[in-house]
Amino acid sequence: MNTDQKLLSLIIPCYNEQEALPIFYREVTAVAQEMSCAYELIFVNDGSKDNTLPILKELAGQDEHVVYLSFSRNFGKEAAMYAGFCNANGDYVAVMDADMQDPPSLLPQMLDILETGEYDSVATRRVDRAGEPPVRSWFARKFYQIINKISDADIVDGARDFRLMKRDMVNSIVAMSEYNRFSKGIFGWIGFRTYWLPYENVERVAGETKWNFWKLFKYAINGIINFSQAPLSIASWFGIFMTFCSFALLAFIVIRKILFDDPVAGWASMVCIVIFIGGIQLFCLGIMGQYIAKTYMESKHRPHFIISESNGKNVKKLK
Ligand code: UDP
Ligand code: MG
Repeated sequence: MNTDQKLLSLIIPCYNEQEALPIFYREVTAVAQEMSCAYELIFVNDGSKDNTLPILKELAGQDEHVVYLSFSRNFGKEAAMYAGFCNANGDYVAVMDADMQDPPSLLPQMLDILETGEYDSVATRRVDRAGEPPVRSWFARKFYQIINKISDADIVDGARDFRLMKRDMVNSIVAMSEYNRFSKGIFGWIGFRTYWLPYENVERVAGETKWNFWKLFKYAINGIINFSQAPLSIASWFGIFMTFCSFALLAFIVIRKILFDDPVAGWASMVCIVIFIGGIQLFCLGIMGQYIAKTYMESKHRPHFIISESNGKNVKKLK
């Protein structure tokens, strides 16, 4: 191997990907072999319950480019990506899904853009959401609008986790060791010069998506809480608004009493107001609870992942 040849590390989180993996491996290997740099394929088995691990072991036996890291249980895609970043040796590093939704054929173009020296990362963005239910697309668009208004992280609508980065950027990501990880926010928060490469959405080649609507909704809320303190000020704004309302109502009742000598009536309206205020208070307490829960998890300093098996050398088994 040429010693000043650059190394490209591809991180592939895999959770129950037995159908997609062989197809992905074949395609990505064909592309990587045509590229100018050396490469390693870091497959992270995120506690799969199917034959993903045996398939990875077989690939590792045949091909020295394949490194597998196998988690002791399912820790989630964020943890799998972090384990990949912590164990990647490349000068260039990319994260790719195993289901071919991140087309390997884009890699040479992405590398060319990085090698011009003008950018530190090349990120991909889907220009359409073909094949996705309209309700999900609507919520996704709203999520990007909201999070961009209320947080420092610049998050582009349709951005995928698929991006090719230089070593400096990867080091910054590894240094961001927060427990509650939201990579789209982390990529935006650390900055660096990013080139956005648009491409048309590709549907999963085999197997099933691991995301349902509820999981995506929780992921979105998680992203907002991780990158913005704005929800915490909702309580203050509600408080100020309710105080003004109560003054206005008080004035209305006093004037009505003086002018019309109208006694205060309305058990029903009273109950509505009590329930309304109680609801708002619980809602605001809930928001604070979310932040406290995150702080609690951060303060425990638990590892992000536990690697139980690997064929790699000097693997960071915990971090
Ligand atoms: N994934 C993972 N752990 C999980 C869920 C998903 O490592 O708990 C991997 C999965 O194997 C795939 C990538 O993350 O390579 C994206 O998952 P998926 O295709 O289900 O998400 P979608 O593309 O539908 O957003
Ligand atoms: Mg997918």
